[in-house]
Amino acid sequence: MPTLVMKFGGTSVANMDRIRRVAKRIGVEVAKGYDVIVILSAMSGKTNELVGWVEETAPIYDAREYDAVVSSGENVTAGLMALTLDAMDVPARSWQGWQVPVQTTSVHSAARINDISTENINAKFAEGMKVAVVAGFQGISEEGRITTLGRGGSDTTAVAFTAAFGAERCDIYTDVDGVYTTDPRITDKARKLDKIAFEEMLELASLGAKVLQTRSVELAMRFKVRLRVLSSFEEQTENSGTLVCDEEEIMEDNVVAGVACQRDEAKITLISVADRPGIAAAIFVPLSKAGVNVDMIVQNISEEGRTDMTFSCPVDHVARAESAIAEIKSSGEINFRDLIIDKDVAKVSVVGIGMRSHTGVAAQMFEVLHKEGINIKVITTSEIKISVLVDRKYMELAVQALHDAFELDKAG
Ligand code: ADP
Ligand code: ASP
Ligand code: MG
Repeated sequence: MPTLVMKFGGTSVANMDRIRRVAKRIGVEVAKGYDVIVILSAMSGKTNELVGWVEETAPIYDAREYDAVVSSGENVTAGLMALTLDAMDVPARSWQGWQVPVQTTSVHSAARINDISTENINAKFAEGMKVAVVAGFQGISEEGRITTLGRGGSDTTAVAFTAAFGAERCDIYTDVDGVYTTDPRITDKARKLDKIAFEEMLELASLGAKVLQTRSVELAMRFKVRLRVLSSFEEQTENSGTLVCDEEEIMEDNVVAGVACQRDEAKITLISVADRPGIAAAIFVPLSKAGVNVDMIVQNISEEGRTDMTFSCPVDHVARAESAIAEIKSSGEINFRDLIIDKDVAKVSVVGIGMRSHTGVAAQMFEVLHKEGINIKVITTSEIKISVLVDRKYMELAVQALHDAFELDKAG
């Protein structure tokens, strides 16, 4: 039997009605002759609630127990979906990560999948099971503890299962009908793309477009998984949704493919650091050890042996960053005059493989922001993206203005 992987996000399984609706959708694929592996998220809002409970119990918690608690939302939807399918006479069984098993690293709350066993599930397919309903986002470490794959991790579970089982394709069902030129919640001019290149999707995802988890795109690219993003609320045709594919398959040639944004960023500046070889390592190694996810880094020109060092990180890493910096300062390893923390910034990025061969995109971006009176605080670039930090209150305006200026509402 050909195998198909279908993943449904939190809003698609938010209540019993939606679970029944999704079960019918799965039944359609079973009727076509597929063995189906369904990957589910927790009901929408559930994971946030579980995270909230953990944080309420202990501000600095043991990540092993965080995973034990936070993985549970997916267990509920998987079991309910198997029951619903069975009631519709579609033979189904639910699987938690450890039962498959999905072997992961031991990096709790951000584990990576090392291996997925196909044996147990295939044995059940051979016995006549039609649908394996798998709890997404979770696995088991070598030590035998439950792990989770980072927020949005069910996408990665789905792509990894597609590769492991050699499934025909991976369909990601969500609350939008595909990948858009920007988050459709920010501008109604956002345009659905029929296709997007893996590399562009990878950048958009890592720069804040949460429609796919970054790691899922990485895996799809590496294992050549046929990956589609679709709406779970609309009828599907052959050309529905967005196909994530190789750039050679794409006809459009917009220089900029999309605009992404990340709302909850912070900017930290160490003023007047004594400049010497090794200063960056002295700051950023301890930050990394403290689990601070440092993103942009800018070091100013040194004057009279002193310099300013600025970096950005997620707002919820600021406390950790502050205490790591205090520690290195008190140990005498670094010496600076002042620490300035700005918790009200957001990152806005434009992405497109066309930038490899077109110059002037950065200049145009800066001009657009200038016209809107938006001050740029930090800039970083790579071959196919330009990112800026701006005051958070201007994030939506910046996205809308850039979307207009690069005419992303029109196919190129
Ligand atoms: P799910 O619960 O199904 O995993 P997510 O909330 O994780 O869904 O991802 C879908 C959301 O991603 C959409 O509702 C949309 O607001 C957001 N999003 C951000 N950027 C984009 C984009 N470029 N295209 C489509 N959706 C986007
Ligand atoms: N439920 C998890 C989250 O909200 C995983 C997922 O939905 O992909 O992050
Ligand atoms: Mg998601």
